[in-house]
Amino acid sequence: MPIVMGPSPMEENLRRLTDEIGGRVTGSPEMAKAVGWAVGAFRAAGVEVHTEKYVFPITWSEGKTELLIDQPFRPLRSEYRDGKHLTAADERSLRVVSVAWSPSTGPHVLYAPITDVGYGSPDDFGNAGNLQGEILLVHTDIGSTWADLSKEYLRPPAIIESAVKSGAAAILWMGARERLLLYRHRNSLKKELDKIPQVIVAREDAMTLARTVAAYPGRIHAYLSTPNTIGGPIEQENVVGEIRGYEKPDEAVILGAHLDSWELGTGALDNGCNAALVIEAARAIKATGLLPRRTIRFVLFSGEEQGEIGSHEYVKAHRGELDKVRAMINFDSGIGRVTGYSLGGRRDTEAGVREVLKPLESWRVNNHTYDASFGSDNFDFLLEGVPTLDATQEEANYLPNYHAASDTLDKVDMRELKLHTVLAALTAWGIADRAEPLGKRLSRSELDVLVKETGLDQQMKLLGYWDAWQSGARGRTP
Ligand SMILES: [Zn+2]
Repeated sequence: MPIVMGPSPMEENLRRLTDEIGGRVTGSPEMAKAVGWAVGAFRAAGVEVHTEKYVFPITWSEGKTELLIDQPFRPLRSEYRDGKHLTAADERSLRVVSVAWSPSTGPHVLYAPITDVGYGSPDDFGNAGNLQGEILLVHTDIGSTWADLSKEYLRPPAIIESAVKSGAAAILWMGARERLLLYRHRNSLKKELDKIPQVIVAREDAMTLARTVAAYPGRIHAYLSTPNTIGGPIEQENVVGEIRGYEKPDEAVILGAHLDSWELGTGALDNGCNAALVIEAARAIKATGLLPRRTIRFVLFSGEEQGEIGSHEYVKAHRGELDKVRAMINFDSGIGRVTGYSLGGRRDTEAGVREVLKPLESWRVNNHTYDASFGSDNFDFLLEGVPTLDATQEEANYLPNYHAASDTLDKVDMRELKLHTVLAALTAWGIADRAEPLGKRLSRSELDVLVKETGLDQQMKLLGYWDAWQSGARGRTP
């Protein structure tokens, strides 16, 4: 505790990652700088470090996304109709960003009527009539809870599929943050580009548009341009710090967080603060001069925001050793107070976790849950049967700033981050140093039961992961 809570390099480390390097999309030059930052910070802490390369499938960066609305009471000048690039901002242009991994419209501008398909349910699509060639407006609710955020990822794939089937040309998603705040993420998490262009429209602009479309049915048109730059595949890296165990060095506990982020903001809450936490936990354990029985690996993953690609590649590369990975501990929920860990559908590991956290009993961090979900780097370890601990945190300021321009260092409560660092270090140390393993590696048939009991099967079906799980391309081989 005194090592972490006292003067430390963590705050300055995090300032350099967020303010100086900034948003770091996997495959970008900023991501490469972030890898250099992490390697340097581990070395400065006296912790052995190396990087592990893998092939990342697609690089993507946003071009000049534009959406102009042609409406009877404020028609656009004819030059916009020539299919050339839209010109400077106009009072009819809406505040938009491209959805990540949305395809490029190339040098052309899409011109089509807009149809409001409500929340995009099968009924909404059934009642919408012929949507061939149209641009669809899809409504959303404001996200304020973890459950809302989960829905933000689980809803879109089916809506996109309906849109593609109906022959629609593009989708406009109503923003789920208030006060015109734009944000970026992927709307489907498969390792491929989306099939049709999609943008997020600032919430208030999208609501105005919905009212206008309702007032002039069939008469509102949009010019849409998403000239995104798409490339790849490209070699990327995960960063791995290591403190070797003195008794069972081939057995390991992993403490992980993702290092990459989206780039409208600087990825402070998601997930710079927890990347800094992982490095600081390593520094603190090293600084005690003590060695754990088992090895502790401190892993900073890339490619998380595109669908946990870096951690999936890590799991694939280390498949032969997963029997000896005793736990994977993950931090990826910003700065809200930690209340315990989500144990990935397992009850057998709880007693061990409670015992490990006994010294912090008064912090009330022992409220563990047995849910299992997609959405961060613990996912592929869970599917391999490795015991996982995903920090459960209060929402705090996470949702209003999620993936948005406002996700900056000023949102990070440094005292809370230091307390979490103590917790993370103690958790990793305790599991690495206890006499017995925390829990066994589950077999495929045990995982089949777990996936069903936790409802993870439904999530995987909605996200399009089910076939990969069934075939063994993802998760423990059947
Ligand atoms: Zn994250």
